[in-house]
Amino acid sequence: MEHDKKNIMVVLSSPSGAGKTTITKKIQQKFNSFKISVSHTTRKPRPNEVNGVDYNFVSKKIFEQMIKEKQLYEYANIYDNYYGTSKEIVDKLIKTNDIIFDIDWQGNKQLSNYEKLNLIKIYITVTSKDELKKRLLKRNQDSKEEVNKRLKSFEEDRKHWKDYDYVVINKNLENCFQQIEKIILSHKKNYLDSINSTIL
Ligand code: 5GP
Repeated sequence: MEHDKKNIMVVLSSPSGAGKTTITKKIQQKFNSFKISVSHTTRKPRPNEVNGVDYNFVSKKIFEQMIKEKQLYEYANIYDNYYGTSKEIVDKLIKTNDIIFDIDWQGNKQLSNYEKLNLIKIYITVTSKDELKKRLLKRNQDSKEEVNKRLKSFEEDRKHWKDYDYVVINKNLENCFQQIEKIILSHKKNYLDSINSTIL
């Protein structure tokens, strides 16, 4: 992966329903340098999702071809669908932008294997499993079966918090965002300082 050193990569993982989409949008509004790495998936689009914006929706056959041809930096099978990060998309973006990766713990682990990436790994969670259930039911987006699958992975995900640099609890959206904003600003500053001191 060719990495322009002044740009950073932020992994945001969380259970679905923990507010990650809203926080991602807020990061983009605050820092216009950030672009989202639009993943490829074999999952069917939800009613308001747009191909090429929310995901690149592809067939299982195409996805498996991408795996075979090593076109992905990472991929995972989640809730019986493939999700993955295209090398082509990321390599192009990182030349001019900071990147947000909305990926799960498996993808986070695989990206961590790439050395020398300016990667910040953040896990956003909620206060409890009950709170997550409430949020999932409220957004009324998934079938009962899907809600149960997502609740189950809340426990599984917890085991992988150790692979992240930060775990942030989204009890209050504004507060959670402020914490993430601070993390990003401090990493950007540290990184620029370290580059400047190398140049001097
Ligand atoms: P959803 O179906 O709700 O959009 O996403 C389900 C899960 O897939 C979320 O936890 C999301 O972070 C994860 N995900 C989305 N894109 C990718 C990807 O490219 N790679 C990996 N490993 N996970 C992804």
